[in-house]
Amino acid sequence: MIDLHTHSTCSDGTLSPAVLAGQAARAGLTAWGITDHDTAAGWDEARAAASAEGIACVRGTEFTTRHAGVIVHLLGYLFNPQSAPIAGHFSAQLTAREDRAREITARLSTDFPITWADVEAQLAPGAPVGRPHIADALVAAGVVASRSDAFADLLSTKSPYYVPQHAPTTTDVVAWINDAGGKAVLAHPLATQRGKRLGWEAIEEILVCGAFGVEVWHRENPPAERGELEALAGRLGKACFGSSDYHGSGKPNQLGEFTTSPVVLQALAEGTYLEV
Ligand code: AMP
Ligand code: FE
Ligand code: FE
Ligand code: ZN
Repeated sequence: MIDLHTHSTCSDGTLSPAVLAGQAARAGLTAWGITDHDTAAGWDEARAAASAEGIACVRGTEFTTRHAGVIVHLLGYLFNPQSAPIAGHFSAQLTAREDRAREITARLSTDFPITWADVEAQLAPGAPVGRPHIADALVAAGVVASRSDAFADLLSTKSPYYVPQHAPTTTDVVAWINDAGGKAVLAHPLATQRGKRLGWEAIEEILVCGAFGVEVWHRENPPAERGELEALAGRLGKACFGSSDYHGSGKPNQLGEFTTSPVVLQALAEGTYLEV
């Protein structure tokens, strides 16, 4: 059982990489991917813990990117994190994410009892901040009951408190990942809960610009459209992935709820800068 898309406290998951590795092993995974948002900070801890648990660890990152005015999540796997554009991006994004989260928090603070210190208290030291941490601060302040409630209203892209996230173009990030010896996989392209969604032509543009594959089996891709996505990937010679996007208790997604085939994992790991 192979699940290559999960989040730890190094971004907006609720479990540390080491605890996550233990859960992955107990869930029956034989290979597990750690893919925190815009960082590689959890990789060393994840790899050591996975090795102790006797499971394979696939090191990755979920990059926030943009294509034709739409925010697009792009998974990069097994690349050199010291490569200049990527290392520069991670450090710039840490600051950009903080500036943006401070602005959202300032807007919220005019109507709700929440301060930047409350948000920081929800964040592991050095982790890139995101809306989920603001959601956690709103939960702690008793404003909403859960992350999902916060995203449904106060933190949605249509909310007056919303501030967009700085993001490089998807095609640039695909090139960075490839140049750093990694492989790029388009994450949950049919997800609608996140605001504007890519059209089929745009999905094809991203896949042909150097992506290795695409997430087909993901709970946010509507089941009725997964067949069409799989067919498009097949026509373009791209690999199809299935993943949970597990965030600990931060989302209902469960480890291993969707999985990737061993054949695809083997092809993913072929010739990459990092090994599995
Ligand atoms: P940001 O990158 O700061 O714009 O935040 C986006 C992140 O919020 C995504 O990566 C998801 O992990 C998380 N997210 C989006 N919608 C929800 C939701 N309904 N419940 C919990 N987390 C969510
Ligand atoms: Fe997330
Ligand atoms: Fe995502
Ligand atoms: Zn994710």
